Amino acid sequence: MRFHLVTIFPRIFDSYLKESIIGRAQKSGAIEVLTHDLRDYTVDKHKKVDDTPYGGGAGMVLQIQPIHACVLEIKKIIAKKQNNNTRVILLSAKGKKYTQRTAERLAKYANLILICGRYEGVDERVAECIADEEISIGEYVLTGGELPALVLIDSITRLLSGVLGNEESAKDESHKKKNYKEYPQYSKPQEFNGWEVPEVLLSGNHDAIEKWRKNYFKKNSKNF
Ligand code: SAM
Repeated sequence: MRFHLVTIFPRIFDSYLKESIIGRAQKSGAIEVLTHDLRDYTVDKHKKVDDTPYGGGAGMVLQIQPIHACVLEIKKIIAKKQNNNTRVILLSAKGKKYTQRTAERLAKYANLILICGRYEGVDERVAECIADEEISIGEYVLTGGELPALVLIDSITRLLSGVLGNEESAKDESHKKKNYKEYPQYSKPQEFNGWEVPEVLLSGNHDAIEKWRKNYFKKNSKNF
């Protein structure tokens, strides 16, 4: 799977993408992440990619021209590949809320183009005419679309076949179905500061453990 990031801050991604599961997924070839600096696509001689909003108002708006040019260029690169099944996503505070179901749906594409907004946002014609969908990672406003793009890359990558080892298996994780939460996990020591691990987990009785895990969130649902 190939992620194409459209951003004015390409270096933001470097450190996170190098580490752990996402770093390994790139080394193994399960995913490829390509960053595209929006400033390389502007026709403005000063490399400007934003301007004031029509109708007035605070802040600056990312312009459609460099985004259009950049997405066209990415689509040309994708067209040369074997699998060009592509989705263009605009990260946006007012988009549709991102969930595990969205991650599962998007994991089926071969290419995702993720457009990261900045400033007051993005010229609305990007949502109307360039993006296939607008996604919000939650009901709050961030400074830019780069963190949301990383959230998508991370949550989608762990769903791809061969990315998680057995130890990190995704099969019983929270949100695997609606309202499902994984059972609580404990590790050594058995007692810490007087805080004990639930006794059933030490019993060696696999049926009892299974039952306790299954029932945990049913019993405690009002606390979550
Ligand atoms: N003025 C916009 C509004 O009120 O909806 C917020 C713009 S925000 C400061 C700048 C950029 O950050 C957005 O264009 C978007 O790409 C990104 N962004 C901020 N919050 C987000 C969220 N919750 N989910 C996805 N992207 C977000």
